[in-house]
Amino acid sequence: MKILDITTKLKTIKETLPKDVTLVAVSKTKPESDILEAYNAGQRVFGENKIQEMAQKYASLPKDIKWHMIGHLQRNKVKYMAHFVALIHGVDSLKTLNEINKQALKHKRVINCLLQAKIAQEDSKFGLAFQEIEAILNSEELKSLENIAIVGLMGMASFTADLKQVESEFKSLNIFFSQLKASHPERSRRTKLKILSMGMSGDYQLALKCGSNMVRVGSRIFGERNYI
Ligand SMILES: *Cc1c(COP(=O)(O)O)cnc(C)c1O
Repeated sequence: MKILDITTKLKTIKETLPKDVTLVAVSKTKPESDILEAYNAGQRVFGENKIQEMAQKYASLPKDIKWHMIGHLQRNKVKYMAHFVALIHGVDSLKTLNEINKQALKHKRVINCLLQAKIAQEDSKFGLAFQEIEAILNSEELKSLENIAIVGLMGMASFTADLKQVESEFKSLNIFFSQLKASHPERSRRTKLKILSMGMSGDYQLALKCGSNMVRVGSRIFGERNYI
């Protein structure tokens, strides 16, 4: 079997994506040369799950790259990305929003965030229950955070071969997202819900059918990851 290069794999995926869907190329653990290959093929949005790794790559790669933090956040490291991060996907507490706000203020920026919803069955997945998301959006505290904007939700489905299960998890998040948009019309800078980030290499096509408009694809573009 011929091994396809990054450019070809990227092109193949992009051709199947509707125009209004954003592709986040997940480059965690991958070398800068791989990112540059994707960049030269036109890709501008990249996702990383470790803040320091992302900061190093940001420093040496072209400045028109939009960097998305997709991993679980360590609050004490938010400061290392506050000057450049384009979107933070995995926010799961008001405490973390407070820290992001504080660091964003230092750089006179507004940082876009997604609240991570817990939709998977297994315990290991991070995220908020739907009621907790509503509580954050309705909280007085959020109103005082001038330097963050909650622009949508992110979810990860269960790691299972049972596609019916995955589909029902994606669907439940999409329904909740629609309800939230209806109950939180774009009346403030702090909540303009428009992004639904769902879907990875193995399930992004299913996620798209269930209403996703941002997919996070790694191994399908860059190949399997070798963890040390
Ligand atoms: C690693 C990762 C991805 C991409 O995973 P692939 O299966 O390689 O596409 C997507 N989302 C999150 C949150 C990740 O950590």
